[in-house]
Amino acid sequence: MKMFKRLTGMGVILALAAMMLSACGQGGGSSNSNAAGNTEAPKAEAPKTETAAPQAGSLEEIKKRGKFVAGVKYDTFLFGFKNPTSGQVEGFDVDMAKAIAKKIFGDETKLELKEVTSKTRIPMLQNGDIDAIIATMTITDERKQQVDFSDVYFKAGQSLLVKKGSPIKSVTDIKKGTKVLGAKGSTSVKNIREKAPEATVLEFDNYQDAFAALKAGQGDVLTTDNAILYGMAKQDPNFEVVGGNFTDEPYGIAVKKGDTELQQLINDVIKSMQESGEYDKLYEQWMGVKPSK
Ligand code: GLU
Repeated sequence: MKMFKRLTGMGVILALAAMMLSACGQGGGSSNSNAAGNTEAPKAEAPKTETAAPQAGSLEEIKKRGKFVAGVKYDTFLFGFKNPTSGQVEGFDVDMAKAIAKKIFGDETKLELKEVTSKTRIPMLQNGDIDAIIATMTITDERKQQVDFSDVYFKAGQSLLVKKGSPIKSVTDIKKGTKVLGAKGSTSVKNIREKAPEATVLEFDNYQDAFAALKAGQGDVLTTDNAILYGMAKQDPNFEVVGGNFTDEPYGIAVKKGDTELQQLINDVIKSMQESGEYDKLYEQWMGVKPSK
């Protein structure tokens, strides 16, 4: 009796399994129709690959939150710099952030700035601490694996800053024993290691620390983008930019990978600023010269 029950139990299970299998095999039962009314057989492997999709559409989240959170430098004169007198963070990148906030909300003050450095900016974007990086960031293939970039909004190139009278006049003067100062996480330190492999490269957390070290004689030359170096030379006229540009550093605004809506909005902002002349005005305001075409 007991045996019979167990057998019937198994029989029911087997029958159910057979029904399910045949339903799959037929590939046309109404229970297999998808929402679109297609009746192909369901794929054996359901698309379970929801790969690291960013919390889609940060734009919606930004609107809900009521402010755009931009990661900018606080240590980079002319781009993103915390003015020690006013306490305000100001510069070209900060004004780009304001223009984006204005596009989203019709109000440039709906903006929160957070400090990033060359090293922290990508992790902060990926953690969701910031919506975008607007921080003298060069578009590179390597970085494109981790973030998506806007169109180019500023063209820089790597150069050198030395104390006036220094024997270093160009990158070819950087030899074994020359101490080169740079910032962690920047393309600049990577590039200089390739261009002057014999040099000793000292990396700092931010550009003000690197500049302080140059002033203190802890290094012979500081290397990063020309526009950043011009900002330093402006802060202290005992220093000068030498050697021209030995790389191209096109800046892009970075958003989370796949965040196409925000990326598109930012591209629209860049384009309309360029068309209206607002871009040239901003460039001249901070750089003191007109952008070269
Ligand atoms: N543009 C270069 C870079 O993205 C140097 C400036 C910086 O460190 O932000 O690495």
